[in-house]
Amino acid sequence: MFLSGHASQCRLLIRGGDLAKSMSRYLVDQIERNVLVQVCLHSEVVELGGERELETVTVADTRSGERSAVPARALFVFIGASPHTEWLEGQLATDDAGFLLTGRDVQDGALAEHNGDPPFFLETSRPGIFAVGDVRSGSIKRVASAVGEGSMAVRLVHDRLAAL
Ligand SMILES: Cc1cc2nc3c(=O)[nH]c(=O)nc-3n(C[C@H](O)[C@H](O)[C@H](O)COP(=O)(O)OP(=O)(O)OC[C@H]3O[C@@H](n4cnc5c(N)ncnc54)[C@H](O)[C@@H]3O)c2cc1C
Repeated sequence: MFLSGHASQCRLLIRGGDLAKSMSRYLVDQIERNVLVQVCLHSEVVELGGERELETVTVADTRSGERSAVPARALFVFIGASPHTEWLEGQLATDDAGFLLTGRDVQDGALAEHNGDPPFFLETSRPGIFAVGDVRSGSIKRVASAVGEGSMAVRLVHDRLAAL
């Protein structure tokens, strides 16, 4: 919606088949009413082209694989919300989506190393290991909150050391 106020035409590419699946209804309605925004479902960016600057974006249909190059002067990427925590599997408790559980969200069954006590705020299922920012289950997913949690964790590490 913001970009459509600055461009003659915007294409919103989504890999899935339904904008409403991960977006509030009021936003979907605004987008669908906006004649400057063309919603392209089942679409994935696979290639960028241009000599000195961006000229084309090649888009593949996620169902057929068919590719088409569309002219474009700018590309705004809005992806990147999956936690990369596979390597911690079995080490730290996570929620169903793989985000690390901290504090009171750590389930009773994962508290063995805490001797049944609740972990500190931002502390994971393993005493002395803290998680902050996007990777933490329930976090706000904003730069300011990630930075703020980071600074809080420093103090909490000292509290953990003092409690040993
Ligand atoms: C497209 C997009 C737009 C956004 N726009 C805004 C916005 O306008 N305003 C706003 O406040 N927030 C915005 N956010 C959210 C914001 O980017 C995040 O909340 C913030 O970056 C979280 O910081 P972080 O340090 O927790 O995680 P990240 O910034 O994701 O940093 C985690 C780092 O850890 C690295 N890493 C991962 N695994 C490993 C490993 N095994 N070993 C070593 N390093 C590893 C990653 O490469 C990454 O550099 C946006 C997010 C996205 C994806």
